[in-house]
Amino acid sequence: MKAAVCVETGSPLVIEDIPVPEPRAGEVLVHNHACGVCHTDLHVMKGEVGFPLPGVLGHEISGIVAEVGAGVTTVAPGDRVVGSFIMPCGACENCARGMEDLCSTFFEFNRLRGTLYDGQTRLHRTDGSPLSMYSMGGMAEYSVTPATSVFRLPDSLDLTDTAILGCSLFTAYGAVRNVGEVRTGESVAVIAVGGVGQNIVQLSAASGAESVIAIDVDDDKLDLARRMGATHTVNSSRVDAAGAVAEITGGRGVDVAFEALGSAGTTNLAVNIAREGGRAVVVGIPPAGTTLDVDLARIVRRKIQIKGSYGARARRDVPDLIRLLAAGKLDLGGVISRRVTLDEAPATYEALDRGEILGRAVVLTGA
Ligand SMILES: [Zn+2]
Ligand SMILES: [Zn+2]
Repeated sequence: MKAAVCVETGSPLVIEDIPVPEPRAGEVLVHNHACGVCHTDLHVMKGEVGFPLPGVLGHEISGIVAEVGAGVTTVAPGDRVVGSFIMPCGACENCARGMEDLCSTFFEFNRLRGTLYDGQTRLHRTDGSPLSMYSMGGMAEYSVTPATSVFRLPDSLDLTDTAILGCSLFTAYGAVRNVGEVRTGESVAVIAVGGVGQNIVQLSAASGAESVIAIDVDDDKLDLARRMGATHTVNSSRVDAAGAVAEITGGRGVDVAFEALGSAGTTNLAVNIAREGGRAVVVGIPPAGTTLDVDLARIVRRKIQIKGSYGARARRDVPDLIRLLAAGKLDLGGVISRRVTLDEAPATYEALDRGEILGRAVVLTGA
């Protein structure tokens, strides 16, 4: 099969021909239809997030189940499915207490070593040398992934659009529903409206937020945010964002400020535009070692909560997202601005790095 291999940091992906992987017990082989192009892959490619290379990146997929390993009962060959980037083991202490978003097996084996949970990768080059897997390694024609992260789709949902469910929408859901707990009538700000940010905008609107203020430096991204449900937009390259939010909210600030970039400056902005008793939810992945310098008196005196959010709980939240999509409450197609082939994946990540991708790009891995 074809796979986009990240050979080393600082160099473009290389399209290689490698053997189709085989699922083991509890795992599913997916014939990938599409895979989203996410900024976190780019962090790995640039060496900003440590990960063993060479390996196959790509961590949000849609496709058709090709084969299942022993004991898999939740999906069967031929099922149309999506895969979430967090692949819960279902057995660690965090999974047992319902916090699949913090699955320690996933972090220890997949994020640190690039393997599945027997300590081995399913991906190899034709000479037998191992290729690490970032989540399921979705930038390839096939992926093996634990059955805990594979979910059947109703026929009404488009396979290309749903490719961005497994990270972009999933991460936004965790931020809006589980951590930000956006309630009807609340005010929300979303700082940086890339792929995840656009989905935070639309999920906040779908959750009943009365005002949703999108903040970015790119007018095209802000225009898209309006189509996704933002009631106000602020271009922070032209105006002072905190001042603009104060003006929009009558000086109060917002109930929930989401930070979706991963930098200290934007996190400070989130803290500063949260109203008294409000929540600043940090969603963007910062380069390793980034620290925050905050006004502690403001945190204490104004009771500002700074909350981290990572992904969502796969087996609880993905079925909920699929129901929301099937009910027509969310628009994924509108977030996707580019649909490219696997051969075009390297150039697409370079375009993402230059800030040129509006919303999300998806790679049609089967094309
Ligand atoms: Zn991602
Ligand atoms: Zn676990």
